[in-house]
Amino acid sequence: MSTRRKFIENITVSAIGLPLLSSSANLFASSTEKYDGPILKIAIMGLGSYGNRVAEAMLNCKKAKLVGVISGTPSKITKWQEKYGIPTKNCYNYDNFDAIKDNDDIDAVYVITPNGLHCEQAIRVAKAGKHVICEKPMGVNAKEGQRMVDACKAANVKLLIGYRMHYEPKTVHVIQMRKNGEFGQPKFFQGQSGFVIGDPTQWRLKKELSGGGAMMDIGIYSINGARYMLGEDPIWVTAQETKTDPVKFKEGIDETIQFQMGFPSGAVANCLSTYNMNNLDRFFMTGSKGWMEMKPSTGYGPIEGRTHKGELNQPHITHQTLQMDGMSELIFDGKQPIVPVDGEEGVKDMKIIDAVFLAAKTGDKVTINL
Ligand code: NAD
Repeated sequence: MSTRRKFIENITVSAIGLPLLSSSANLFASSTEKYDGPILKIAIMGLGSYGNRVAEAMLNCKKAKLVGVISGTPSKITKWQEKYGIPTKNCYNYDNFDAIKDNDDIDAVYVITPNGLHCEQAIRVAKAGKHVICEKPMGVNAKEGQRMVDACKAANVKLLIGYRMHYEPKTVHVIQMRKNGEFGQPKFFQGQSGFVIGDPTQWRLKKELSGGGAMMDIGIYSINGARYMLGEDPIWVTAQETKTDPVKFKEGIDETIQFQMGFPSGAVANCLSTYNMNNLDRFFMTGSKGWMEMKPSTGYGPIEGRTHKGELNQPHITHQTLQMDGMSELIFDGKQPIVPVDGEEGVKDMKIIDAVFLAAKTGDKVTINL
């Protein structure tokens, strides 16, 4: 089991002293309403740790269904075929998946491969005329993100980024409170995102596959969270990098970055992104009338948190189940989540990450225009 997965699951258990709600409990909770609308038929590309999690979660979806796979490992394909009842005609590898264009069984491809592969793979999917769902970070820089947006527009397909927190009930509730003005004018956000990464040989520590270190992988949650909690996009960034282990964290792989963001209203954010400290999964925000704190704030759940009005008690539902049903509604009915999950939203985060890297390298205050 990867260190990252262990970290997220440990938080889940220790935060409330209970194991995860089983997916069958979620099914029970959500299966009471009958659904006879369209079902988004999805192929997953990249059958690794997170791909497996998404596939499991989709068993409980009503509006989305796993129907195909794209993988370079034939033994994994066979296993998934058996587990999920996937027909051989819906199985592809990385060389032949452009042929998906002739497969009416598949509406969308969910790209869940290493970050450095997302851009070219997503563009190939778009050219095959299928909607693209792509994991975060959408690419390794804003230029790649923009290329993906442009390719999906040209092909007239949707591009959605796997921002599962935009569907998570406690997160959605706090964002709605902010929109209702219950915190008054948001003034300050603090985001802490990190864990101690294990195996030094994994792709997350190889620049060409990851695009960076902790910032690309986990720091992006604080960036995206600052934006949805404060309800604004930053106009400047400052950043400071600390590296204690240059052997494990080579050139271009950030170990720890502290960064600050300034917003048009005068609100500020102070964040920490790291691959070298555990138990960092916390959001705090204060405004002129109230505050919120979430810990854990972005793990697989249950999310825990409180505001000046009391504990957050919205139900835990597997994030990826909600996300995939929500993305189906978005594609078929144009129903938008409370905060966008489209390619443009992804490009904003990539532009901020580019700015954080530049600020950390130069020591300058970097202005950004989103
Ligand atoms: P993983 O290493 O477990 O899986 C990656 C998969 O890509 C593997 O099946 C691997 O075989 C395949 N792959 C294809 N080409 C490869 C290559 N050239 N090198 C290495 N692997 C290759 O990684 P993961 O944890 O599943 O992460 C995949 C993506 O999902 C990343 O972009 C990551 O940021 C994202 N992710 C998102 C979340 C979330 O909560 N939204 C959580 C974990 C991972």
